[in-house]
Amino acid sequence: MSFQVYNSFSKKKEPFEPLSEGVVRMYNCGPTVYSRVHIGNWRAFLFADLLRRWLEHEGYEVRQVMNITDVGHLTDEMADEGEDKIEAQARREGVDPWKISETYAGQFLADAVTLGCKEAMVYPRASDHVPQMVEMIEALEKSGHAYRTGENVYFDVTSFENYGALSGNKIDELDAGARIEVNEEKRHPADFALWKSDEHHLQKWDTVFGPHGFPGWHIECSAMARAHLGDQIDIHTGGEDNVFPHHECEIAQSEAFTGEQFARYWMHTKFLQVDGGKMSKSLGNVWNVDDVLERGYEARALRFALLRGHYRQPLNFTWDILAESARALEGLDDLAQRLLRKVDGEDAGEEEVAAAATEFRDSMNDDLNVPKAVAALFTLRGEVLEGAVEGAGAQAALDLLAEADAVLGVLELEPAGGGAEEDAEIDALVAARNAARDAKDWAEADRVRDELNARGIVVEDTADGGSSWFRK
Ligand SMILES: [Zn+2]
Repeated sequence: MSFQVYNSFSKKKEPFEPLSEGVVRMYNCGPTVYSRVHIGNWRAFLFADLLRRWLEHEGYEVRQVMNITDVGHLTDEMADEGEDKIEAQARREGVDPWKISETYAGQFLADAVTLGCKEAMVYPRASDHVPQMVEMIEALEKSGHAYRTGENVYFDVTSFENYGALSGNKIDELDAGARIEVNEEKRHPADFALWKSDEHHLQKWDTVFGPHGFPGWHIECSAMARAHLGDQIDIHTGGEDNVFPHHECEIAQSEAFTGEQFARYWMHTKFLQVDGGKMSKSLGNVWNVDDVLERGYEARALRFALLRGHYRQPLNFTWDILAESARALEGLDDLAQRLLRKVDGEDAGEEEVAAAATEFRDSMNDDLNVPKAVAALFTLRGEVLEGAVEGAGAQAALDLLAEADAVLGVLELEPAGGGAEEDAEIDALVAARNAARDAKDWAEADRVRDELNARGIVVEDTADGGSSWFRK
């Protein structure tokens, strides 16, 4: 089975075929660095990392670009109005806007390392690409897709026939009064700013359009994608909130400029819910990576919690769900430790492991169905616990775990403490505890359980009345 992706543009699953054989040009809409990136944002960024890793698994060279927006993203995206998010935060904190973007961009890049993201080819900043934006805007003006009013430049949505093809928003439905406020300067209410002028804006550039200008958010991504990946790219990702207006506008500008298709595949992640609802400052549940670490969880538990759900399904986050993800990882770590001790045994279970490997790969190839792929690993764990996998089977299972971890980036596969001798001791203790329990000698059963606990051993009772154990 080859890699199939759900294309948000065509609204269907399609076989993935890049423009150039063996190479994938991928642009990920990155953070606007006006505050600490929260775990909801990370859902989309970790998805980008997962996608890149799977493409590499499939043998592609991935040219990954994730931008950093440090100017021009307004508070009211829908109306194309409001304050620049970076500048609003600069006023709140009483510091320079450049200091705001430096601080939060630095934290974002540090969090990416903490969460095990592979480094992108480049993390371009919008403020470093103003000449490329001006070049595109001037060309759009010349070709009749953009117009100036004073020192502002707007994109004329009626000049681009396919406007609305991604989001389903039709120009005539985006009329005055609906969701877009009327701006007298615009010819059509849905026209959006490519370049804005404001002498009070703190980050501004002196260009052909005037002395006090700054770019619109959408043109930034079109210009950065083109600067680093060329006129056409294979995959463009973002959160579902980016579909409209941001990505709709990117398509209009880029395709009006080049006359070619901009991105072949659009992939969007659904929102992360927290405690079953929207994350919000007033509820105090806008968590970030430090909040998770401060509660004693490993970063990989958060990574796993955010990647375990299918990216096109809503995902809920609670501290209990995070704890459950951490436990699930312990179960997989334990699987690896057991297998390491079984490789010298008599060969068994190769077929079961091959079936798990096929299930894992087919699920990932099916639009990155992580829940199904991970379920295959747990099915395998059950077979190992039953003693069905030994020798060559155990080695194949270890190879599968390593393959899965190259994509998921969450497992610990190095041999841990304890050897066959210690395992035998623990087996004996567990048997003693079970015997005491069966004899209803609760004091003895508790004493042995405490001893196991002290050695970092967790005993799990199984459905058939037996038990299994693993190291914490
Ligand atoms: Zn973007």
